[in-house]
This record gives sequence, C-alpha cells and structure tokens, in this order.
Amino acid sequence: MSNKPKVAIVTGGERGIGRGIVQAFLDAGMSVCIAGIDEEAAEKTLRELDASGRLIFCRTDVGDEAAVREMVEETKQTFGQIDVVVSNAGLPDASGQKVETLSLEHWDKVIRTNLTGGFLCAKHAFPELRRTRGSMVLIASTRAHQSEPDSTAYSASKGGVVALTHSLAISGGPDIRVNCISPGWIHTGDRSKLKERHHAVHPVGRVGQPADIASMAIYLVSPEAGFITGQNFIVDGGMSRKMIY
Ligand code: NDP
Repeated sequence: MSNKPKVAIVTGGERGIGRGIVQAFLDAGMSVCIAGIDEEAAEKTLRELDASGRLIFCRTDVGDEAAVREMVEETKQTFGQIDVVVSNAGLPDASGQKVETLSLEHWDKVIRTNLTGGFLCAKHAFPELRRTRGSMVLIASTRAHQSEPDSTAYSASKGGVVALTHSLAISGGPDIRVNCISPGWIHTGDRSKLKERHHAVHPVGRVGQPADIASMAIYLVSPEAGFITGQNFIVDGGMSRKMIY
C-alpha cells in the first residue's frame, strides 16, 4: 500500500462539487491547489476555507496546455510534491441546443474543457504522480451512459472521460491509479430551492450534494483503495438503476 496522500490538485475547485472535494481533502489534512478560471470565486473559497497556508489558487484554463504545465510546476514548488489530481472542471450541459444547429465552436469548447482538460492534467502531472505513486480521479457524469435530448457535446465529452480513465489507468500502472466518478444530480446551490418531488424521485429519497462525491473521492485516493484502478463509480442516489416507462 502506498502512503496517505498529502498534496492534491483539484481543477474547478472554486465552487460546487470541486469545492466539496477541496473541503474534504483539507479536512483530511492535505494541502490543495485549486486550478481554475474564476478568481473571484477562488478568493471567496480561500477566505472561507481558511486553510492556513495549505490552500492555493493557480489561475488555469484546463484547456490551455501551457497553463496546466505551469500550474503543476507551481503546485510542486509550493508544496514539494503532488500525490493526487482531481480533474473536475467542466462546462455544464448545454440543453436546448439541437444537434442540427449545435455549432462546431461550442462542441470544441465543451470537449476541450471536459475531456482535453483531463488529458492535459494527466500528461503534465504523471511524471510527479509516478514518483509519489499517486492517483488521479476524473469527474465524469451519468450522462456518459444515459441522455436527455440535446446534450450532445456534454454526453460525448463525459463518455470520453470514462474511456480516458481506463486508458490512463492501464498506461499509468503500476505506479499511478486512475478512477472516475459519475455523479447524478448533485445540487450545488441553495437546497431550499429544491422541491419535495425532486428528492422523492431518487431511490435514496434525496437529491445529491457535493459531500456525496467528496466522500467517494477521499476513498479513491486513499491507500485503502490500492487495488482499484480504471473504474467508473456511479454516485447518483440509485437514479440510473430506476426503470422509468
Ligand atoms: P460548477 O459549474 O459549479 O463548477 C465547475 C467549475 O469548473 C467552475 O469553477 C468553473 O469555473 C470551472 N471551469 C469551467 N471551465 C473551466 C476551464 N476551462 N478551466 C478551469 N476551470 C473551469 O459545476 P459542478 O460543481 O456542478 O460540476 C463539477 C463537475 O461535475 C463537472 O465536471 C460536471 O460536469 C460534473 N457533474 C456535475 C453534476 C451535477 O449535478 N452538479 C452531475 C454530473 C457531473 P466558472 O464557474 O468560472 O465557469
């Protein structure tokens, strides 16, 4: 078994699910670099999580190779090592854009952020993760397996993330473990806005929250998950197992 991880990068960790993962890593005693584009949200997160030197922000567009390379270098220089990379940054589903009218520009942007971003993080962090015998977690989606109408680019990007995960796991082994998490509906805003029927439709009786994904991430990067690699873990309150006619 490898050692407990000490330093992590979380892309898109300023808000939402990423912030939940950052919080869990800090609670576990780790140091974290948030790599993202939203400086205002990052400042707020840094202030609120108040991690006394264990939390930094690197302005990074995950689709920009030079920025990802610099971010990995800066994290290593600041904290001395990198044990974990969580590729979480993503553009949301662009529901409403029909495939017949979806622009190539939009398609490219979604693929570049949601899929290429994970590849670039792996490309530049793998040498350090090999040295530390670290691990990587990518955030996919249940939409890798199921679709609503008009989520073409998003679903394709997330299907790509699932395949990228097993490809990286096989290439990264035996030094690096790589897994992905496919969240279902994770509400990242004000829960009082949710209706009772939103909770009731879920087999577990509630809509998900960032901590549900963070719990899985914490497990996957731990030494206890040392025999797990290349897998996709669906965390959706059972929704994708529910038959709907
Ligand atoms: P949010 O939009 O709340 O957070 C995504 C973060 O990624 C934001 O901080 C965003 O910045 C950042 N980001 C976007 N583009 C880039 C980029 N090019 N480079 C760096 N950072 C970027 O989303 P969630 O927390 O809801 O989702 C997080 C991940 O989980 C995503 O990959 C999403 O697809 C996935 N997911 C979420 C589900 C949910 O129900 N919430 C369900 C299934 C999957 P900014 O705000 O400035 O755009």
